[in-house]
Amino acid sequence: MSSSRNDSPSATQILLDTRLNKGGAFTELEREELGLVGLMPDGVEPMGVQLDRARLQFEQQSSDIGKYQFLSALQDRQERLFYALLRSDFQRYMPIVYTPTVGEACQKFGHIMRRPKGMYLSIRRKGRLAETLRNWPEKDVRFIVVTDGERILGLGDQGVCGIGIPIGKLALYTACAGVPPQVALPVVLDLGTNNEAFLRDPLYPGLRIPRIVGDECYAFIDEFVAAVQEVFPRCCIQFEDFTNKNAIPLLERYRNKVCCFNDDIQGTASVAVAGLFGACRLSCTKMSDQRLLFMGAGSAAVGIADLFVKQLCGDGVPESAAVDRCWFVNSRGLVHAGMPKLPDYLTRFAHDVSGLKFPAGAHSGPDSPLTRLSDVVEAIRPTAIIGVSTVAHAFNESVIRSMARLNARPIIFPLSNPTSKSECTAEEAIRWSEGRAIVATGSPFPPLHFGGKLFVPGQGNNVYIYPAVGLAVYATEANRVTDEMFLRAAESLASQTTDQDLSVGLIYPPISSIYETSIEVAIAVTRLIFDRGLARVPPPHDIAEFVRGHVYDPSF
Ligand code: NAD
Repeated sequence: MSSSRNDSPSATQILLDTRLNKGGAFTELEREELGLVGLMPDGVEPMGVQLDRARLQFEQQSSDIGKYQFLSALQDRQERLFYALLRSDFQRYMPIVYTPTVGEACQKFGHIMRRPKGMYLSIRRKGRLAETLRNWPEKDVRFIVVTDGERILGLGDQGVCGIGIPIGKLALYTACAGVPPQVALPVVLDLGTNNEAFLRDPLYPGLRIPRIVGDECYAFIDEFVAAVQEVFPRCCIQFEDFTNKNAIPLLERYRNKVCCFNDDIQGTASVAVAGLFGACRLSCTKMSDQRLLFMGAGSAAVGIADLFVKQLCGDGVPESAAVDRCWFVNSRGLVHAGMPKLPDYLTRFAHDVSGLKFPAGAHSGPDSPLTRLSDVVEAIRPTAIIGVSTVAHAFNESVIRSMARLNARPIIFPLSNPTSKSECTAEEAIRWSEGRAIVATGSPFPPLHFGGKLFVPGQGNNVYIYPAVGLAVYATEANRVTDEMFLRAAESLASQTTDQDLSVGLIYPPISSIYETSIEVAIAVTRLIFDRGLARVPPPHDIAEFVRGHVYDPSF
């Protein structure tokens, strides 16, 4: 900061601007030049000292939500310090800014909010969205994470309070992969809410109308997407936490027209496929040996299945055979060809069940011959069960014991978030399988010991993927985000898992090294973007150097 006092912001503006404020790190010269003398204690404090104070204050908060609020306030006050803190210990801070605490933060957003931190585009502004977007102070927005708040994690309709998810997700773009924070814009589309408690709560900050659905909702989102193209032409839109009845059609509507993706569908798919690569290494099996049973048949499940099928097809497996290796259970039971009212996106996975052997005493229901998960496991004999249902404890002892009987190394992925919705805990999967399960969970679970052995559960979370893909898209100014990019990201992520990681059951590189991991994933995806001609910038001589040259450095 070397400009003279005449053309620089006032001292007060500097101290109130989170991007300019360096706290006690202003040098003596800067203090003189900027008029800061006397506005802070005289000692010059390098970032390390400020980090120590921030850590101390963070640990003084007695609850996770208190810690969340502390970090949120730090982000408002000193952005660089906030990112340096996150990067200094991902394992400690990520569960607070992201799942599981971010779920609680959304539920309480109306009560704990201090600064809006993003844009709130309400249906009342219909017809004025481009004009409204121009109110955002940054003029070169490259990433918008947008939600309508209808399906926040596994917590249901959170209305505008769902903005906590775009805020948290975008913070991780920067913390995990070095995407500069000024190019990020969190957005919530306020289409009303059906959350009765919020509608009664005087502190709920959004529109108090029943949620708008159908054509009016779609027309509003069309206007939003067009407005983003007009106001921020280099922007990538990440759709986030829409319900599956909207998420899948919205992705289809825009994916070939604008630069966009849906992280719940494509990011989750990528991290799950990467987990399956790791599981194959641990179990000495091939991807084409796997038979997947999904508990839950929504966006995440179908996204994973679609990408798994693409991977197998790339390996030479006929598409129909690959599709046959994916089975689903929804709230009505095993999805099958005769199930009434199946959404279009599921029909290719609705198989004929006449050749299946049902276990004696199996439970059936009006829409499905098998409604109990343990019966489905016996009938399908999957190698992997993947939980994306938001049904806590769905992977009960009987389910996991069956998986352990059927497989030498059963693959158990309870991916639902937050922790309270996880289909089982990591400890349950390990204990009930006598230490043989290969486990990845959506929310973090601590390492554990079983049978004298250490197990480190991997976090099968799309945070390994979307910030890295984001960095690649940012650096290349890609005009589309494709499934092939997510497959390349999965391969790169999986290739970074070491034999040492695998020896403790960890099928992903450790979260503690997510920054280095993400940069490597971004380099791999960047290479693909140039190869496919999707970049809007000329190809560089050295791709790794080019990607690293775009990374944000939070140090003062
Ligand atoms: P979704 O609403 O699209 O799908 C949920 C599915 O669960 C639906 O098909 C529903 O029928 C099914 N379901 C509900 N109750 C059921 C029951 N009793 N038995 C069987 N199935 C039941 O949601 P989604 O986007 O697919 O997300 C689902 C979960 O996965 C959420 O908890 C979300 O947080 C989590 N998720 C995790 C990650 C990750 O990175 N780990 C990524 C995306 C989603």
